[in-house]
Amino acid sequence: MKDNMHRIGVVCLGDVDSTVPKVLAAHISGYLNLDASVLPPLYHPAYALNRQRLQYDAGVILKEMESTPFDGMDKVIGVLGVDLFVPIFTHVFGEARQGGKAALVSLSRLGEKTVGSMPMSSAVLERAAKITLHELCHLYNLSHCMDPNCLMHFSGDLNQLDQTPFSFCRYCAVFFRDAVGAGSAS
Ligand SMILES: [Zn+2]
Ligand SMILES: [Zn+2]
Repeated sequence: MKDNMHRIGVVCLGDVDSTVPKVLAAHISGYLNLDASVLPPLYHPAYALNRQRLQYDAGVILKEMESTPFDGMDKVIGVLGVDLFVPIFTHVFGEARQGGKAALVSLSRLGEKTVGSMPMSSAVLERAAKITLHELCHLYNLSHCMDPNCLMHFSGDLNQLDQTPFSFCRYCAVFFRDAVGAGSAS
């Protein structure tokens, strides 16, 4: 491994099928050429449950993750089976603070019920992987892109998400390469 290789950790929070983090890590390595590994799971984020909405507050979980030391990791992706919200949206597929250290991905609305340890369909895994790459790029300071044929295009529903490719438009590709540093892509 090169010294300038960015290290990405994928960590489950609570009950998530163990194939999911492996698939997400493989997509991060395969599409973004970053060094991704699966970290030991964390507890279910009971502290973030909003009792009126019966959803979990993405901002609260992100804050907790940002203050957790993940040794040697440049960025960390948290994967959850529970439904996430941020105050201005009814729900979110994922959440990241621009330039932050941690991002979240929720499996809750990606298709069939993903409760417990039910095996996940390839469609759900593909959606989760797409959200993972998109949110990870926000951590590298990429913003939303107007081009619908770009990974950084905003997806508000599953239809839009399925139309979104795994690849960047040429502008975002350059932005991403600059953000991770030219050395890590070679
Ligand atoms: Zn986004
Ligand atoms: Zn773009």
